[in-house]
Amino acid sequence: MPGRKSKNQDATRSTTWKWKRNACGVENCDESTANGKPYCRDHLDLAEKTECLIATVNARQNEIDKVLAAGSNGWRHVETSGSVAQDILAIIQVYGPQTISALSRNATLKAAIVIPYVRALAAKGLVRISPQRTASGATQETISLIPRA
Ligand SMILES: [Zn+2]
Repeated sequence: MPGRKSKNQDATRSTTWKWKRNACGVENCDESTANGKPYCRDHLDLAEKTECLIATVNARQNEIDKVLAAGSNGWRHVETSGSVAQDILAIIQVYGPQTISALSRNATLKAAIVIPYVRALAAKGLVRISPQRTASGATQETISLIPRA
């Protein structure tokens, strides 16, 4: 039956058209996309920023994993210009000289991670590790910035 066949073809065509329509990948966004992009113009910028943020987070985690996996040689895998090391330097700059445990708290990183970073930064001459006497008479290592000449 030719009539029926053409009806079916129409249905197929309309489904295909709907499926191929480039809808923005953001849920509840009805905008369509241009040039095969996965998001509409409004969401493309957001998506690029998100991808960039995810890349930074992944790079940080990869570096931390490498540092931890290397055990006592972990400090050799520290990228002192990377975002983790730069965060640690910024925290010392803002809060002043502090112990590993304070630095670990302020950076929201485990001490096991902070220690190799501090060691790498000290090896680069960016921080100084100096013993400080506490009120109770115990000695604690304090991490401070070495001012740039
Ligand atoms: Zn959108």
